[in-house]
Amino acid sequence: MIPRVLTVAGSDSGGGAGIQADLKTMLALGVHGMSVITAVTAQNSLGVQGAWELPVEAVRAQYRAVVDDIGVQAVKTGMLSSAALVEAVAELLAATEAPVVVDPVGVSKHGDPLLAAEALDSVRTRLLPAATVATPNLDEVTQLTGVLVEDEDGMRRAAGAILEFGPRWALIKGGHLPGDPGRAGGNQAVDLLTDGTEEHWLRAPRLDNRHTHGTGCTLASAIASGLARGLAVPEAVRAAKEYVTGAIAAGFALGAGIGPVDHGW
Ligand code: PLP
Repeated sequence: MIPRVLTVAGSDSGGGAGIQADLKTMLALGVHGMSVITAVTAQNSLGVQGAWELPVEAVRAQYRAVVDDIGVQAVKTGMLSSAALVEAVAELLAATEAPVVVDPVGVSKHGDPLLAAEALDSVRTRLLPAATVATPNLDEVTQLTGVLVEDEDGMRRAAGAILEFGPRWALIKGGHLPGDPGRAGGNQAVDLLTDGTEEHWLRAPRLDNRHTHGTGCTLASAIASGLARGLAVPEAVRAAKEYVTGAIAAGFALGAGIGPVDHGW
């Protein structure tokens, strides 16, 4: 049977990130994608013009509908918007045996908030403990742990601080490190995957393409798709990094701002 993967995330009307990026990724990777929508954003290449949360009951009902009938082999979470939604989703995930990829989405590339500041504590204490893999970028690491990352040693400290909240694995995305040669990353996008015992450094060339809208969503969905197929976490992350590198290379201009990564390459 085709692996079934669920995304619990926000809608991006522009089709570049959020639920739309998740479902495109799942389609491209040959799994059946399903969605629990947490919030609706009015969004385009210039940023987020508005966001509306769904009621907690609507989120719970979508989740139950999918899980009770169709079943899931992996779950991915993205924009959760508020403390109430974070708590409700964390409670649902605590009861699942499927692997869970948590992308602790805080702020969009344009700087628009996708999570209320008062929800951070629920992410730390309720959501991260339910994660098989947590995939924070460096800004999210700083928000969640206070660790400021400037080099690869900082990435190691960041991973340790994230693992203390309870996810099985931490994937620290170093793509936002300054790209000066001599500094961590240099002209590479470096990520660190660790469970506190194993350390996997993933390196890919830093691509000179500003059309990167939806990279985080795409990576987390690709990891969930690999896990749903039965890959171990390091293999799923490695394959997902390859997928997102291709998607960024193929990112294209749409609208007047930052265009989306591409799933049809
Ligand atoms: N919009 C929604 C609904 C999202 O879930 C996300 C990221 O998770 C974004 C926007 C941000 O996308 P980006 O930071 O790649 O522009």
